[in-house]
Amino acid sequence: FLVTRAQVNARASAERASAEQRRLASEARAAVRVRDEFLSVAAHELRTPLTSLKLQLQLLFRQLHQGEPVDTVRLERGVETCERQTTRLTKLVDSLLDVSRLSSGKLELQLESLELGELVRELVHRFEAEAQTMNVRLDVDTPEPVTGRWDRLRLEQVITNLLSNALKYGHGAPVEVRVLGDEAEARLEVRDRGIGIAPEDAARVFDRFERAVSSRHYGGLGLGLFITRQLVEAHGGRIFLESHPGQGTTFIVVLPRAGPVPGTPLPPPPPT
Ligand code: ADP
Repeated sequence: FLVTRAQVNARASAERASAEQRRLASEARAAVRVRDEFLSVAAHELRTPLTSLKLQLQLLFRQLHQGEPVDTVRLERGVETCERQTTRLTKLVDSLLDVSRLSSGKLELQLESLELGELVRELVHRFEAEAQTMNVRLDVDTPEPVTGRWDRLRLEQVITNLLSNALKYGHGAPVEVRVLGDEAEARLEVRDRGIGIAPEDAARVFDRFERAVSSRHYGGLGLGLFITRQLVEAHGGRIFLESHPGQGTTFIVVLPRAGPVPGTPLPPPPPT
């Protein structure tokens, strides 16, 4: 048989095209799997506070209508639970809204001059009560002022996400927060000594809906780090982690002190 060079080339290019098709099909299946899993996790995460809210409201209703003097302590406790669950629901819905805003590139930063150490100390202070109930020590190290042009609310979100993850996955061990800086960049480190992240999960956890296998029973939507990374990158910065499974994780955020370069578009969201 005589096979011409043209036929060999045609066969090779057909094989390449079908390999590419298989790769695209497998990517599409993976995206559908991630989305389906997200929907089921999201439904569960929304349902838990809703169930608790409904139960509490039924209890309160019964207390008010049982014809006996109202026990104000029980009443107050019930209302507090309702408020906590409503806050939880609001946070979940806010994360979902943020993701859709970030995905459609509708995020606008309000830059102002800030001192990162001061902001971090303020936020750690807000976490103090929660840390105390979990018996966790929060150590803050801000050796010198590090100023820069950043969006206060968005940076608060970044720091809050990292702190709440450190408490959530931190095994009750002390959490350390550090702010450093040089002329060009500020560096924030949030270190815990908790469950850690396996090397094969380390890059994935910054993606939308992605959660490490080790943390499946903790609950969560897998959106916090995605939002965090997008906000850091919108500031022209970068975020990465160092981790040893079973020993803990350090998240490191590096931000240019001059703020993002004007006109830099938001990084494109991953294609899911
Ligand atoms: P979630 O709501 O699931 O916590 P995040 O986007 O904040 O979502 O985090 C994504 C995943 O990254 C988590 O589900 C968890 O697997 C992992 N993760 C985040 N922070 C930590 C941490 N400090 N230690 C260990 N694993 C973490």
